[in-house]
Amino acid sequence: MSGYGSSKFYRIFKIIVRVRLVKSLGLLFILFLSLCLGLFAWHKKANAAELEITDFAPFFERYIALGQAISIFNWDIETGVAPVGSLETRAKTIAVLSAELFSMSTSEEMGNFFKAVERAIERNTADDITLGTCQILKREYDKLTCIPADEYKAYSELTTIAAHRWREAKGENNYGIFSPYLQEIIDYQRRFINYRQRAGMVFENPYDALLDDFEPGVTSQKLDVFFEELKASIVPLLHNIMSLETDTGKSHDILYREVPIQVQKNVSELIMKTVGYDLKRGVLRESAHPFSMGLGQSDVRITTNYHPNKFFASFYSVMHECGHAIYEQNVAKELEGTILDSGSYMAIHESQSRFFENVFGRSLEFWKGIYDDFVIAADGHFDDVTAEELHRAVNMVRPSLIRVEADELTYSLHIMVRYEIERMIFNIPDLKVGDLPALWNEKMRDYLGVTPATYSEGILQDIHWSLGYFGYFPSYALGSAKAAQIQSAMKKDFNVDAAIRALDVATINAWLTDKVHKHGRMLNSAEIMAQISDKGFMPKYYIEYLSRKYAELYKISH
Ligand code: ZN
Repeated sequence: MSGYGSSKFYRIFKIIVRVRLVKSLGLLFILFLSLCLGLFAWHKKANAAELEITDFAPFFERYIALGQAISIFNWDIETGVAPVGSLETRAKTIAVLSAELFSMSTSEEMGNFFKAVERAIERNTADDITLGTCQILKREYDKLTCIPADEYKAYSELTTIAAHRWREAKGENNYGIFSPYLQEIIDYQRRFINYRQRAGMVFENPYDALLDDFEPGVTSQKLDVFFEELKASIVPLLHNIMSLETDTGKSHDILYREVPIQVQKNVSELIMKTVGYDLKRGVLRESAHPFSMGLGQSDVRITTNYHPNKFFASFYSVMHECGHAIYEQNVAKELEGTILDSGSYMAIHESQSRFFENVFGRSLEFWKGIYDDFVIAADGHFDDVTAEELHRAVNMVRPSLIRVEADELTYSLHIMVRYEIERMIFNIPDLKVGDLPALWNEKMRDYLGVTPATYSEGILQDIHWSLGYFGYFPSYALGSAKAAQIQSAMKKDFNVDAAIRALDVATINAWLTDKVHKHGRMLNSAEIMAQISDKGFMPKYYIEYLSRKYAELYKISH
């Protein structure tokens, strides 16, 4: 028994020794691991301290490629290349890639890049491309680091699906299909604003956080002043025109005559050729909502949509998207392959699209210049119409329901409706999506005197909210105003009317490239407007442009 006892004691002793030994070994191992980690961290830190800007080239190659992959997946969905049944899986793919891009944007490596730029600035070796890149990415970094990564991923997945549901809802005139998604998107955006505020970002108005995404420096306070100024001149001019006894019969006939889709496609080809959109680096496809998508200057794509009796809607969509695309195709070659190889913020982007759509494409000179080729491309559908009649029809002022079909004068009123609703959404926490259609209709009545009979012609007409693009709409009005100021500056350098009449887009595009296009994302909106005028952006040019244009068209004094 004692033997048993002593052997038992020995076994216990052995276990204790083993445990102690394991413990000691464990401690030694932990010590060793800590040392390794410490060394690794020190080594990494030392390395990061030595990293040069050029060391980040592979990181940015991956970063740009990821962004392009996300865009191409979206393009496939929007243009109907992706089968409808793949939506849920593609939404997941996009969410995973977006999460990856998010993690790169907020990564330690990105932080190291900023430090490397700081060192280069101290040594006076930072070039303009590096500084421009850093400025854009730092802004994004500050905005994103305060958002939890899993929320950002879920939000990306939600917006991909929501855009699809929006298309269904619009097609079926059923707000209920889309509204739960819209509510979720709004809830996310409200939370994102909150995160930014908690991270120390200061916004006078919560909605300003979203405006800032599309146009840095633009606030609701500044927009209130801008829109008030526009309203003060547009509304009396509109009333003046509406009180005239104008025979609009011919214009109506021109605008709404049925034109086969194949003929419309032929006219699209003519427009793209006329405005100088390079089809070797671009392509036109169809989607529910026209848009442009840039993957660097060698690949800038556009879309439109065709309806047999809405020929001019497609006509001007193509002009508009070409304006965006030409901008990105003409970015300076040395910016290719960098994150600056794209357009600046949205108001400048929209100034380029609205320039081609309106200043160029809705002018009498344009219609005189393109008339012969247009009549041939339109294959007999407009043989009985003169250039002057076409010009008059496409500028016919009539308060209408659809923003993208609005004339230039009432267009900004459509933007004001959206702007005011968005500002309410982010200032009134208990405002629900169920309240929005009535609010929309009320504002349409107030501003334009028309009430939508359907959701599709009302609150469901635009894709933006389904993508989470709150704060985007004001860019259209700002862009239109900047386009007018750009034309005024251009007129000091050459005869713009003569160039449009001769369809000499080479001269126009060379001027735009020099002042706007070539800079890509290197300059922000204010810096670009400073290239155009010493005084920067001034809305008075837009008001003068509209007053002069409509006084001539409707033969009224101004
Ligand atoms: Zn646009």
